[in-house]
Amino acid sequence: MADQNFDVVVLGGGPGGYVAAIRAAQLGMKACVVERENLGGICLNWGCIPTKALLRSSEINHLLHNLKDYGFAADNIRFDLAAVVKRSRGVARQLSSGVAHLLKKNKVTVIDGHGRLAGPNTLAVEKDGKPVATLTSPNIILATGARARTLPGIEVDGKLVWSYREAMVPTAMPKSLLVIGSGAIGIEFASFYLNMGAAVTVVEVMDRVLPVEDAEISAFARKSFEKQGMKILTSASVKGLTKHADSVTATIEIAGKSQEITVDRVISAVGIVGNVEGIGLEGTKIKVDRTHVVIDEYCRTGEPGIYAIGDLCGAPWLAHKASRTTGVTINTPTGAITLLSAAGSATYQSMTVTNSAVAATDVIVLNQKSGTDKYILLVPQSPPDPSRSPTPPPEAPPQEGRWVSPSVCR
Ligand SMILES: Cc1cc2nc3c(=O)[nH]c(=O)nc-3n(C[C@H](O)[C@H](O)[C@H](O)COP(=O)(O)OP(=O)(O)OC[C@H]3O[C@@H](n4cnc5c(N)ncnc54)[C@H](O)[C@@H]3O)c2cc1C
Repeated sequence: MADQNFDVVVLGGGPGGYVAAIRAAQLGMKACVVERENLGGICLNWGCIPTKALLRSSEINHLLHNLKDYGFAADNIRFDLAAVVKRSRGVARQLSSGVAHLLKKNKVTVIDGHGRLAGPNTLAVEKDGKPVATLTSPNIILATGARARTLPGIEVDGKLVWSYREAMVPTAMPKSLLVIGSGAIGIEFASFYLNMGAAVTVVEVMDRVLPVEDAEISAFARKSFEKQGMKILTSASVKGLTKHADSVTATIEIAGKSQEITVDRVISAVGIVGNVEGIGLEGTKIKVDRTHVVIDEYCRTGEPGIYAIGDLCGAPWLAHKASRTTGVTINTPTGAITLLSAAGSATYQSMTVTNSAVAATDVIVLNQKSGTDKYILLVPQSPPDPSRSPTPPPEAPPQEGRWVSPSVCR
């Protein structure tokens, strides 16, 4: 079993974790990433990237079925679902291996396994129940991301009721589909399946779809989706699911009245919860608010030398937020690092991508006062000092640095 000492240890190799590790390495620190699944995290493997690949295929399917609008004609148009999924998985795999290459190029050590805090400045890693490494570092960054929320009564079973993971790799195209939740994830899948020919119903508890987007965009998006044939029920909630051999009946309540709908498959897209379990938070001073780790404006947790970034710390759940919080890794002469949290420093743009004519755009202003990029990325002011110790980061904001394009994020 390897015992190793690093300047920075990052738990989780998603857009938060791998960018942080690369940045730290570029700043001259000895960095390590621990990842239990795929480098690139949810975004590259199960989120942003593979969904867009699927949406592209469904866009092409839609166009092929409307060729005459463009002056073309073709017969016998059909798709090969396995090939559509294979393409999406291939794109994800390619980008994930690109991250592995970037980490190697930047001399970041990658350890394959599940990590958990195991005492001061220590992270224990195991694989298949066996210990593989004990890592020590004055700076541990938790970047374990998030997963789909499940609600009682609509638990994901992977067969009839899917989360985004199962929805990403269908083995057969459902003829009918119920999507619970009309946030970005729900609407992306609703759009994909609709354009692949499924009859799609979306149920949203709020009074409009894409509730985090501007009201005008919501209204415009709804009109566009409905024109395409999507059935949308707002101010509605799914009260329960009755499973049959190969279908599900959902009981939906709207304005105090119940109605039932039977579909082939259900996608639950009712939110995101942070991966706070099994990472050794128990007995530490790290606070968890519902399912998210509480951090200050420097991404510090309540435990000295332990930081948290990205989806683990809550909304907005965006890959570029995760990467940018880590883009501020700086080293002080003592070797302690400083990160700036998303909440304290930046403005993030989000865009919901669908096959609709509307691409809803919203700007999430997290801090009007410093809502610019000027503190986003700082370059080291001095090389690492070999005698460094885990001293606390400065209380005052780090001095403004030169903007350096975080090319690793692209
Ligand atoms: C369907 C879908 C579509 C999305 N589309 C977009 C989009 O278009 N644009 C956008 O900005 N965002 C999108 N997102 C959100 C985006 O994926 C996340 O915001 C982003 O991945 C968060 O990065 P992260 O590094 O914080 O966490 P993650 O990407 O979740 O990475 C965390 C990593 O930590 C690993 N890990 C967890 N626990 C441990 C442990 N104990 N030991 C070792 N490793 C561990 C996990 O395996 C994972 O690889 C989408 C998400 C989904 C689900």
